[in-house]
Amino acid sequence: LNPPTNCQGCKRLVDYRKSVETRFPDYHCKPVNTFGETSSRLLIVGLAPGLHGANATGIPFTGDASGELLFHCLEKYGLADFEGHQVAPRFLDCRITNAVKCLPPLNKPIAAEINACNKFLNADISELASNTIILALGRIAHNAIIKALQKKQSDFRFGHHVEHALEDGKILIDSYHCSRYNIQTGRLTVEQFEQIFSKIRTLLDQ
Ligand code: SF4
Repeated sequence: LNPPTNCQGCKRLVDYRKSVETRFPDYHCKPVNTFGETSSRLLIVGLAPGLHGANATGIPFTGDASGELLFHCLEKYGLADFEGHQVAPRFLDCRITNAVKCLPPLNKPIAAEINACNKFLNADISELASNTIILALGRIAHNAIIKALQKKQSDFRFGHHVEHALEDGKILIDSYHCSRYNIQTGRLTVEQFEQIFSKIRTLLDQ
């Protein structure tokens, strides 16, 4: 279940979408749908579309710095294929979404917006088969996933490279977000991010 293209769930984000569309008429400027096959065994959950990334292209994580590192790892570990150098990769056993489907000002959704959009994340997770992996990129994505699963936040604390067992054999893995800011400040290194995908590859191959 994706949001309607004219979703009015968050007034602030609807107003912001319209103002950005005025400045960038060629941009997508609508809710960004989940991308990838529903049968995939990996669901990656980011925070929200970036102004010149997913908000421009309409595909999560494409077109900006966060996506470059993510797609580098996906390709390195056999989860995406850039054959033909198209804008969007072909995802292999991998599906990508965001906790908040619309572009927020300053990349910062407020709690009410995260809550309003949680039903769509819940739908994404409900479509997963058993024994799948959910990768949370950042604390906000982690908390949104726990909320969508209707679990107690205190039972599932966010921590980089922490693995949480869920029901049906599903596993939630946390990572710091692969944002340009986190890379530039050293909070997350390329090597640390690759280690997350190395672990995912191992789990998928078991
Ligand atoms: S963030 Fe989600 S709930 Fe809010 S307007 Fe966009 S699609 Fe609708």
